[in-house]
Amino acid sequence: MLKSSLVLLLFAVFSVHSFEPLRILIIRPDDGNFFPDKLERALQTGVAKIQEAINVEPLIDNILRAQDVYNCLQLDSSAQQTGIAKTVSSNEVNTVILNQNIVLNRANFAILLEINKERCDKESELMASANPCYVRDGHRPVIARIRVCPQLNRWMDFLESNTASDVFRHELLHALGWGTVVPSKNATSTPKDVSLKWNVGAAAIPVVRKFLDFGNTATEFARIHFSCSQLEGIETEREDKMHLSEYIFGNELMTPVISTSANYFTEISARILEETHLGPRRWYSVNRSIIGPETAVYSYGRGWGCEFVVASCFDYINLRLRQRRSTFPFCSSADYGRSDHSLHICSSRYQRDLKCDHLPIEPQDKSSNGLTPQPLSNIFPGLPVKFAFRMPSNAETRFCPFIQAISMDVSFSSPPIDEIRPC
Ligand SMILES: [Zn+2]
Repeated sequence: MLKSSLVLLLFAVFSVHSFEPLRILIIRPDDGNFFPDKLERALQTGVAKIQEAINVEPLIDNILRAQDVYNCLQLDSSAQQTGIAKTVSSNEVNTVILNQNIVLNRANFAILLEINKERCDKESELMASANPCYVRDGHRPVIARIRVCPQLNRWMDFLESNTASDVFRHELLHALGWGTVVPSKNATSTPKDVSLKWNVGAAAIPVVRKFLDFGNTATEFARIHFSCSQLEGIETEREDKMHLSEYIFGNELMTPVISTSANYFTEISARILEETHLGPRRWYSVNRSIIGPETAVYSYGRGWGCEFVVASCFDYINLRLRQRRSTFPFCSSADYGRSDHSLHICSSRYQRDLKCDHLPIEPQDKSSNGLTPQPLSNIFPGLPVKFAFRMPSNAETRFCPFIQAISMDVSFSSPPIDEIRPC
């Protein structure tokens, strides 16, 4: 009796709660904040792609409260201010008064798009940033603020390579709460930081592995992706837990460095978004028909094993050499010692020489997990003298001797790692 009523109750809870397609209203305060044409097109593409990929918890009412909009923009509520509001799917443009309630007609989420010239001038590296404004009573965010610095020269590389829309896809996920909503202390099941000592050349260096919130189901997927059944969690880049680790997740959409080659919205980020919620009900559901193809071509890290995810790249290289397997995606001492400084890889139908990276040593911050830059001669003793004052790569790639195509973010193809062997 008890069992059957529980089943009925569960059925009632799940059947009442359905999702609807995400529809974004873009509000531009100050009657404008329009971008140059190409950037505007990239924004529209980014919004359209995210709308297509994500379904959301329906709103309880369709009112954006004036007070919330003002708080979100940190405006003084005594000053009347207008804005332009538009969705990507309709040509209708409306003028809205920001200190009056706004009715969401064809939308269920609003972004306040802001060009803050003063802040852009101060933070010369910031292309864009985003965060949801508030979470009320455990319901999903309804408004988010996205700041964009369109005058930044760095946008040119993204516009020329058709990846500027990825910058907006990335920011829109933050706007919905990806990496920006913090779970309540007593509800979190985020793994604790892991402190380790890593072998780097002859030195043992202390490092810390930190994990993202809302990463439980993504971890299950990542275990399969990396072929690492002991993986504890999804490693994050920094203390703020806003991004996937750049080193481990490479060109996934939610790493801190957006690539100008490709950025994939994969099952990993999708599961993190789906787990992101504070109340009893889930906020988001991601369309597998959209992210499935992106996940399928995301090959970074696939099959690279626990040694890649949890140990230093030097331990990874040594393990692979002991196994007489290719050290891909890293170069070994022998590869730097070759006249072409390349990793030679072969498979049954494939042969390629991939350049090994090396850079001049410059004063650099530690990598986010705590590594310090080392000259190549400390790591691989006995290399030609020209490498004595070079280092393998920079902090984002944990100063590891990656093949250049990866550390310099150039697109390239390789066979699955199990098929790669030394030539
Ligand atoms: Zn970000």
